[in-house]
Amino acid sequence: MASRTPLVAGNWKMNFDHLEATYFVQKLAWLLRDAHFDFRRCEVALMPAFTALRSVQVLVEADDLKIRYGAQAVSVTSQGAFTGDVSADMLSRLGCSYVIVGHSERRKYHPEDDANIVDQVRAVLAAGMRPILCVGESFEERRQGIELEFAVGQVHDVTRDLSDEDAAKLIVAYEPVWAIGTGMVATPDSAQQAAHAIRGSIREQFGPAVANGMRILYGGSVTSRNASQLIEGADVDGFLVGGASLDADEYAKICRLA
Ligand code: PEP
Repeated sequence: MASRTPLVAGNWKMNFDHLEATYFVQKLAWLLRDAHFDFRRCEVALMPAFTALRSVQVLVEADDLKIRYGAQAVSVTSQGAFTGDVSADMLSRLGCSYVIVGHSERRKYHPEDDANIVDQVRAVLAAGMRPILCVGESFEERRQGIELEFAVGQVHDVTRDLSDEDAAKLIVAYEPVWAIGTGMVATPDSAQQAAHAIRGSIREQFGPAVANGMRILYGGSVTSRNASQLIEGADVDGFLVGGASLDADEYAKICRLA
Protein backbone atom coordinates (compact mmCIF):
# COMPACT_ATOMS: atom_id res chain seq x y z
CA MET A 1 0.00 0.00 0.00
CA ALA A 2 2.84 2.36 0.88
CA SER A 3 3.93 2.76 -2.73
CA ARG A 4 0.42 3.32 -4.09
CA THR A 5 -1.34 6.67 -3.91
CA PRO A 6 -4.97 6.06 -2.91
CA LEU A 7 -7.66 7.21 -5.30
CA VAL A 8 -11.21 8.26 -4.45
CA ALA A 9 -13.35 8.51 -7.58
CA GLY A 10 -16.95 9.75 -7.48
CA ASN A 11 -19.28 8.17 -10.01
CA TRP A 12 -22.10 10.66 -10.42
CA LYS A 13 -23.97 8.43 -12.86
CA MET A 14 -26.85 10.34 -14.54
CA ASN A 15 -26.98 13.12 -11.94
CA PHE A 16 -26.04 16.81 -12.00
CA ASP A 17 -26.27 19.07 -15.04
CA HIS A 18 -23.33 21.34 -15.84
CA LEU A 19 -24.46 24.08 -13.41
CA GLU A 20 -24.94 21.68 -10.52
CA ALA A 21 -21.59 20.11 -11.36
CA THR A 22 -19.87 23.50 -11.27
CA TYR A 23 -21.39 24.31 -7.89
CA PHE A 24 -20.38 20.91 -6.51
CA VAL A 25 -16.76 21.18 -7.68
CA GLN A 26 -16.44 24.67 -6.17
CA LYS A 27 -17.85 23.45 -2.87
CA LEU A 28 -15.68 20.31 -2.80
CA ALA A 29 -12.56 22.32 -3.60
CA TRP A 30 -13.40 24.74 -0.79
CA LEU A 31 -14.06 21.92 1.72
CA LEU A 32 -10.81 20.15 0.87
CA ARG A 33 -8.80 23.36 0.97
CA ASP A 34 -10.34 24.21 4.32
CA ALA A 35 -9.29 20.77 5.62
CA HIS A 36 -5.72 21.24 4.27
CA PHE A 37 -6.24 18.18 2.13
CA ASP A 38 -3.00 16.83 0.67
CA PHE A 39 -3.58 15.79 -2.93
CA ARG A 40 -0.12 14.20 -3.06
CA ARG A 41 -1.30 11.71 -0.43
CA CYS A 42 -4.64 10.86 -2.07
CA GLU A 43 -5.99 11.53 -5.57
CA VAL A 44 -9.56 12.79 -5.83
CA ALA A 45 -11.57 12.38 -9.02
CA LEU A 46 -15.11 13.03 -10.20
CA MET A 47 -16.87 11.30 -13.06
CA PRO A 48 -19.65 13.60 -14.29
CA ALA A 49 -22.07 12.97 -17.13
CA PHE A 50 -20.67 13.88 -20.56
CA THR A 51 -22.64 17.14 -20.59
CA ALA A 52 -20.84 18.47 -17.51
CA LEU A 53 -17.28 17.57 -18.48
CA ARG A 54 -16.48 20.81 -20.26
CA SER A 55 -17.73 22.93 -17.34
CA VAL A 56 -15.66 20.89 -14.89
CA GLN A 57 -12.61 21.24 -17.12
CA VAL A 58 -12.97 25.03 -17.34
CA LEU A 59 -13.30 25.36 -13.58
CA VAL A 60 -10.43 23.00 -12.77
CA GLU A 61 -8.14 24.84 -15.18
CA ALA A 62 -9.22 28.36 -14.20
CA ASP A 63 -8.75 27.73 -10.47
CA ASP A 64 -5.81 25.34 -10.91
CA LEU A 65 -7.65 22.72 -8.85
CA LYS A 66 -5.98 19.41 -8.11
CA ILE A 67 -9.26 17.53 -8.50
CA ARG A 68 -9.14 15.16 -11.48
CA TYR A 69 -12.08 14.07 -13.55
CA GLY A 70 -13.12 11.51 -16.11
CA ALA A 71 -16.01 9.85 -17.91
CA GLN A 72 -18.35 7.00 -17.09
CA ALA A 73 -18.15 5.21 -20.44
CA VAL A 74 -16.55 5.53 -23.87
CA SER A 75 -17.05 4.41 -27.43
CA VAL A 76 -14.77 1.69 -28.79
CA THR A 77 -14.50 3.50 -32.12
CA SER A 78 -12.51 6.63 -32.81
CA GLN A 79 -14.91 8.61 -35.00
CA GLY A 80 -17.62 8.39 -37.61
CA ALA A 81 -21.25 7.38 -37.94
CA PHE A 82 -21.90 6.21 -34.36
CA THR A 83 -24.83 8.31 -33.22
CA GLY A 84 -24.74 9.19 -29.55
CA ASP A 85 -21.22 7.90 -28.91
CA VAL A 86 -18.25 9.79 -27.48
CA SER A 87 -14.72 8.78 -28.40
CA ALA A 88 -11.69 8.37 -26.14
CA ASP A 89 -9.86 11.14 -27.99
CA MET A 90 -12.74 13.55 -27.35
CA LEU A 91 -12.51 12.75 -23.63
CA SER A 92 -8.77 13.07 -23.46
CA ARG A 93 -8.95 16.46 -25.22
CA LEU A 94 -11.32 17.55 -22.44
CA GLY A 95 -8.57 16.78 -19.94
CA CYS A 96 -10.06 13.53 -18.60
CA SER A 97 -7.66 11.40 -16.60
CA TYR A 98 -9.89 8.35 -16.12
CA VAL A 99 -12.74 6.47 -17.73
CA ILE A 100 -14.91 3.96 -15.89
CA VAL A 101 -15.18 0.78 -17.95
CA GLY A 102 -17.49 -2.16 -17.40
CA HIS A 103 -19.63 -0.69 -14.63
CA SER A 104 -22.35 -3.20 -13.74
CA GLU A 105 -25.04 -0.70 -14.77
CA ARG A 106 -23.44 -0.43 -18.22
CA ARG A 107 -23.13 -4.22 -18.44
CA LYS A 108 -26.82 -4.49 -17.54
CA TYR A 109 -28.46 -1.68 -19.53
CA HIS A 110 -26.20 -1.55 -22.59
CA PRO A 111 -24.82 -4.23 -24.84
CA GLU A 112 -21.41 -4.22 -23.14
CA ASP A 113 -20.01 -7.73 -23.22
CA ASP A 114 -16.46 -8.82 -22.39
CA ALA A 115 -15.18 -8.14 -25.91
CA ASN A 116 -16.62 -4.63 -25.89
CA ILE A 117 -15.12 -3.96 -22.45
CA VAL A 118 -11.68 -5.07 -23.66
CA ASP A 119 -12.03 -2.70 -26.63
CA GLN A 120 -13.04 0.18 -24.32
CA VAL A 121 -9.98 -0.44 -22.15
CA ARG A 122 -7.76 -0.39 -25.24
CA ALA A 123 -9.39 2.81 -26.54
CA VAL A 124 -8.90 4.55 -23.17
CA LEU A 125 -5.25 3.48 -22.94
CA ALA A 126 -4.53 4.47 -26.54
CA ALA A 127 -5.86 7.96 -25.79
CA GLY A 128 -3.50 8.31 -22.82
CA MET A 129 -6.08 7.96 -20.02
CA ARG A 130 -6.47 5.31 -17.33
CA PRO A 131 -9.37 2.86 -17.33
CA ILE A 132 -11.08 2.11 -14.02
CA LEU A 133 -12.24 -1.43 -14.72
CA CYS A 134 -15.26 -2.48 -12.63
CA VAL A 135 -15.67 -6.12 -11.66
CA GLY A 136 -17.65 -7.91 -8.99
CA GLU A 137 -20.08 -10.71 -8.35
CA SER A 138 -23.84 -10.72 -8.14
CA PHE A 139 -25.68 -11.93 -5.07
CA GLU A 140 -26.13 -15.34 -6.72
CA GLU A 141 -22.39 -15.85 -7.27
CA ARG A 142 -21.74 -14.86 -3.69
CA ARG A 143 -24.38 -17.33 -2.51
CA GLN A 144 -22.55 -20.04 -4.43
CA GLY A 145 -19.28 -19.01 -2.78
CA ILE A 146 -17.57 -18.27 -6.10
CA GLU A 147 -17.18 -14.49 -5.68
CA LEU A 148 -13.38 -14.46 -5.74
CA GLU A 149 -13.06 -16.66 -8.84
CA PHE A 150 -15.74 -14.60 -10.51
CA ALA A 151 -14.09 -11.20 -9.92
CA VAL A 152 -10.63 -12.54 -10.76
CA GLY A 153 -12.05 -14.12 -13.93
CA GLN A 154 -13.60 -10.81 -15.00
CA VAL A 155 -10.25 -9.06 -14.56
CA HIS A 156 -8.44 -11.82 -16.41
CA ASP A 157 -10.87 -11.65 -19.35
CA VAL A 158 -9.76 -8.06 -19.86
CA THR A 159 -6.07 -8.27 -19.01
CA ARG A 160 -5.13 -11.52 -20.72
CA ASP A 161 -3.91 -9.84 -23.92
CA LEU A 162 -2.61 -6.60 -22.42
CA SER A 163 1.09 -5.73 -22.47
CA ASP A 164 2.85 -5.18 -19.13
CA GLU A 165 3.02 -1.48 -19.95
CA ASP A 166 -0.74 -1.21 -20.49
CA ALA A 167 -1.59 -3.39 -17.49
CA ALA A 168 0.44 -1.04 -15.31
CA LYS A 169 -1.95 1.80 -16.20
CA LEU A 170 -5.10 -0.11 -15.29
CA ILE A 171 -7.07 0.60 -12.11
CA VAL A 172 -9.48 -2.08 -10.91
CA ALA A 173 -12.61 -1.35 -8.90
CA TYR A 174 -13.98 -4.36 -7.04
CA GLU A 175 -17.69 -3.59 -6.84
CA PRO A 176 -19.93 -6.45 -5.74
CA VAL A 177 -23.13 -5.86 -7.69
CA TRP A 178 -25.32 -6.56 -4.65
CA ALA A 179 -23.60 -3.72 -2.79
CA ILE A 180 -24.09 -1.03 -5.43
CA GLY A 181 -26.66 1.52 -4.38
CA THR A 182 -28.23 -0.86 -1.86
CA GLY A 183 -26.75 0.28 1.43
CA MET A 184 -25.32 -3.25 1.86
CA VAL A 185 -21.58 -2.90 2.06
CA ALA A 186 -18.98 -5.68 1.85
CA THR A 187 -17.21 -6.35 5.11
CA PRO A 188 -13.68 -4.93 5.27
CA ASP A 189 -12.40 -8.54 5.29
CA SER A 190 -14.25 -9.53 2.17
CA ALA A 191 -13.25 -6.33 0.31
CA GLN A 192 -9.64 -7.05 1.27
CA GLN A 193 -9.90 -10.73 0.23
CA ALA A 194 -11.21 -9.77 -3.20
CA ALA A 195 -8.57 -7.06 -3.71
CA HIS A 196 -5.89 -9.50 -2.56
CA ALA A 197 -7.10 -12.22 -4.94
CA ILE A 198 -7.18 -9.76 -7.87
CA ARG A 199 -3.66 -8.54 -7.07
CA GLY A 200 -2.46 -12.15 -6.79
CA SER A 201 -3.76 -12.97 -10.24
CA ILE A 202 -2.19 -9.79 -11.70
CA ARG A 203 1.10 -10.85 -10.05
CA GLU A 204 0.92 -14.28 -11.72
CA GLN A 205 0.23 -12.70 -15.08
CA PHE A 206 2.47 -9.62 -15.07
CA GLY A 207 4.90 -10.03 -12.16
CA PRO A 208 5.39 -8.16 -8.89
CA ALA A 209 6.14 -4.69 -10.24
CA VAL A 210 2.81 -4.37 -12.08
CA ALA A 211 0.88 -6.09 -9.26
CA ASN A 212 2.38 -3.99 -6.48
CA GLY A 213 1.78 -0.76 -8.40
CA MET A 214 -1.82 -1.46 -9.42
CA ARG A 215 -4.52 0.43 -7.55
CA ILE A 216 -7.48 -1.70 -6.56
CA LEU A 217 -10.50 0.23 -5.31
CA TYR A 218 -13.55 -0.95 -3.44
CA GLY A 219 -16.99 0.24 -4.53
CA GLY A 220 -20.47 -0.47 -3.19
CA SER A 221 -22.35 1.70 -0.66
CA VAL A 222 -19.19 3.43 0.62
CA THR A 223 -19.98 6.23 3.08
CA SER A 224 -18.03 8.22 5.64
CA ARG A 225 -19.23 5.70 8.22
CA ASN A 226 -17.57 2.65 6.65
CA ALA A 227 -14.65 4.15 4.65
CA SER A 228 -12.01 4.06 7.37
CA GLN A 229 -12.55 0.33 8.09
CA LEU A 230 -12.61 -0.57 4.40
CA ILE A 231 -9.37 1.26 3.62
CA GLU A 232 -7.56 -0.68 6.33
CA GLY A 233 -7.29 -3.66 3.96
CA ALA A 234 -3.69 -3.77 2.76
CA ASP A 235 -4.80 -4.27 -0.85
CA VAL A 236 -7.61 -1.70 -0.87
CA ASP A 237 -6.27 1.52 -2.40
CA GLY A 238 -9.31 3.75 -2.35
CA PHE A 239 -12.92 3.86 -3.44
CA LEU A 240 -15.29 4.20 -6.33
CA VAL A 241 -18.20 6.04 -4.73
CA GLY A 242 -21.68 6.36 -6.19
CA GLY A 243 -24.50 7.78 -4.06
CA ALA A 244 -22.24 9.32 -1.42
CA SER A 245 -20.35 11.26 -4.09
CA LEU A 246 -23.44 13.42 -4.69
CA ASP A 247 -23.10 15.18 -1.37
CA ALA A 248 -20.00 17.40 -1.25
CA ASP A 249 -19.69 17.31 2.56
CA GLU A 250 -19.97 13.53 2.65
CA TYR A 251 -17.62 13.06 -0.30
CA ALA A 252 -15.02 15.37 1.21
CA LYS A 253 -15.18 13.31 4.43
CA ILE A 254 -14.60 10.07 2.48
CA CYS A 255 -11.62 11.66 0.70
CA ARG A 256 -10.14 12.62 4.05
CA LEU A 257 -10.59 9.09 5.42
CA ALA A 258 -8.97 7.36 2.42
C1 PEP B 1 -21.11 2.73 -8.11
O1 PEP B 1 -22.11 2.93 -8.79
O2 PEP B 1 -19.99 2.61 -8.65
C2 PEP B 1 -21.27 2.68 -6.68
C3 PEP B 1 -20.30 2.19 -5.97
O3 PEP B 1 -22.47 3.13 -6.17
P1 PEP B 1 -22.86 3.29 -4.60
O4 PEP B 1 -21.68 3.89 -3.91
O5 PEP B 1 -24.06 4.15 -4.61
O6 PEP B 1 -23.13 1.91 -4.10
